[in-house]
Amino acid sequence: METSTFELTPALDAEIERAAAALLEARSVVALTGAGLSVESGIPPFRGPGGLWTKHGEPPLDGYQRFLRDPAAAWRERLHPSEGWARALHETLGRARPNAGHRALAALEATGVLEALITQNVDDLHRKAGSKHLLEIHGNFSLLRCLDCHSRYEPAAIPVDEANLPPRCPGCGGVIKGDTVQFGEPIPPDVLRDCYAAVERCDCMLVIGTTATVYPAAEFPLEVLRRRGQVIEVNPYPSELTPAVTLSLAGPGGTLLPRLLHHVERRNAGDPG
Ligand SMILES: [Zn+2]
Repeated sequence: METSTFELTPALDAEIERAAAALLEARSVVALTGAGLSVESGIPPFRGPGGLWTKHGEPPLDGYQRFLRDPAAAWRERLHPSEGWARALHETLGRARPNAGHRALAALEATGVLEALITQNVDDLHRKAGSKHLLEIHGNFSLLRCLDCHSRYEPAAIPVDEANLPPRCPGCGGVIKGDTVQFGEPIPPDVLRDCYAAVERCDCMLVIGTTATVYPAAEFPLEVLRRRGQVIEVNPYPSELTPAVTLSLAGPGGTLLPRLLHHVERRNAGDPG
């Protein structure tokens, strides 16, 4: 959806004000974001019309098992991709920039309103926007990860010798892999543990640009609702979650989240109107 053509109606703005009040009254606010927020930064979805995989072919469904069987071969493919989808993905992600929605979430964290941000996106845009307590359940395409100790590394920190693949973890000697979680790969246990801890504290969850139908993200808002917490959805389109949420804000995150931040800041400043 083009954020520039979206019109913020007075009725929707009143709903956003209610959401701002809910955030400020909550003990612990956690955000959960998905592909919808990335689409607004020009990253096409994977599936559907114009999707990266639709156009360039799908990655193998046993990608992680292939990696484990032959990490050196997987690394050669990573360094010299032969698959169209892999090249297209890296070019698209490398070009993408955070949008106003990413920046508003980072600002909500900086003002102390948002405690943690769980994302299904691998595009690094939350980190680029300045988010700190970031839980990337599907990893981050721009980082590397040790399969043994789960340390993350910037690629520049790991020397890659093509005659001696795969590279090894400087900390523990374990095999280094791209941080992006592949098909067949479990969610990194450290991230999953931190997600469950954040969700357990959370009494108000912002769900943005995701239909939240994929495990484990699908569980998080449902768990908050089960404990009588509030769930506020920000999505241009209705999702399976919409009928269950406390408040549904229908529109793109790039437009609605800056407005939410505006109302939070105004209330924080003690301005009633
Ligand atoms: Zn390690």
